[in-house]
Amino acid sequence: MTDPSTQLIAADAKAAEIAAQTLLRGGLVAFPTETVYGLGADATNPQAIARLYQAKGRPAFNPLIAHVADLAAAQAIARFDAQSLKLAQAFWPGPLTLVLPKAEGCPVADLATAGLDTVAVRVPAHPVAHAILQALGRPVAAPSANLSGHVSPTTAAHVASDLDGRIDLIVDGGPVRVGVESTIVACLKAPTMLRPGGVPRSEIERVLGIALAEAVEDIDSDTPQPLAPGMLASHYAPRTKVRLNASQLADGEALLAFGPSVISGSEHATAVLNLSPRGDLVEAAANLFGHLRALDGRGAHAIAVMPIPDEGLGEAINDRLRRAAAPQE
Ligand code: AMP
Ligand code: MG
Repeated sequence: MTDPSTQLIAADAKAAEIAAQTLLRGGLVAFPTETVYGLGADATNPQAIARLYQAKGRPAFNPLIAHVADLAAAQAIARFDAQSLKLAQAFWPGPLTLVLPKAEGCPVADLATAGLDTVAVRVPAHPVAHAILQALGRPVAAPSANLSGHVSPTTAAHVASDLDGRIDLIVDGGPVRVGVESTIVACLKAPTMLRPGGVPRSEIERVLGIALAEAVEDIDSDTPQPLAPGMLASHYAPRTKVRLNASQLADGEALLAFGPSVISGSEHATAVLNLSPRGDLVEAAANLFGHLRALDGRGAHAIAVMPIPDEGLGEAINDRLRRAAAPQE
C-alpha cells in the first residue's frame, strides 16, 4: 500500500523516537547514514520489507543490508569468526558491510535476505541513523532511499522527489558526507571483496594482514569474471523442482497457491500453502521465501505454482520464481 502523505521532520531530539515508532508499526522511514540516505524498514517484519520493495519499485528481490546499533546487536543476527570480528572492531561504526552466516535464531526476515543463509550487516556511524537504531532495538533493512534505477540520494530533498507519497516518514539530517555506498566484504570462507565503497581496500587488508579475495562469477572457469554490482549474492533455490503457471495439479506435487480460487487437484497435493488467499501481492511477497522453504521439505516431486499477476510486486515475485524454476547448475 502506498502512503498518500509522507511526513518530513527535522532530525531533532524527538526524531529518533518518532522514527522508531513508525518502524515498529511496519512503516517506511528514510534517514541519513554516513554513505547515502537509506530507506529503512523493520528487518524482522516481512510485510514491512515487502512494502519497502514496493515503494522502491524494485523488479527483483536483492538481499538487503541489516543495519544495527552496535556489535552486540550484530552478533544477535550474524556469526562472527576471528577475521570478521577484527574488521567489525576496526571499522564499526562506519561504511563497512560484512556478509556473514546467519546466527542461530536470526530474526531477520527471509525476504530481507532473499532467502539466503547469510546476512549482510553494518553499524552506521551517522548519529541520526544510530539514534534511530538504538531507539528501535531491532535490525533495520535499508537500501538507498531512491526509486529503483535512480541515483542514490544524498539529501532529504532527493529522497522526497523520488519517494514522496510512497513512504511514511523522512528524517532530514542535512546532506550526507560520503555519498558512496558501503564497502561489502564477505567473511564466509576467505574474506572476499564483494563491492568497493567507503572503506578503502588497503585499510581492510592492513587490519586482516592478508589480501582480500576477489568475488568471481565462476571460480572454475578459465577466465573468471568479476561480479557486477547487484549480482553479488548467489541465489536461494529450492531443491525440489518448481513448475510455474500451473492450471492443474499432477500426482505427488505440492502446491504454492495464490488468491481465493485454488486450482483443481489440490485435494491430492502433498502439501498446499497459499501466498495470499485474498490475492494481495504485498502479503504474497512477505510469504514467498518462507512458503517455498516449507514446501521444499515435504518430499514432493515438484512444487506447482499458480500464476501470479505480473504487476507491482508481482514482477519481483515472478522474477524470483523463474530463478527457482530454472534448471540448476
Ligand atoms: P545497497 O543496499 O544498495 O547498498 O546494496 C546491498 C548490496 O549488498 C547488494 O549488492 C546485495 O547484493 C549485497 N548483499 C546483501 N546481502 C547479501 C548477502 N547475504 N550475500 C551477498 N551479498 C549481499
Ligand atoms: Mg542503491
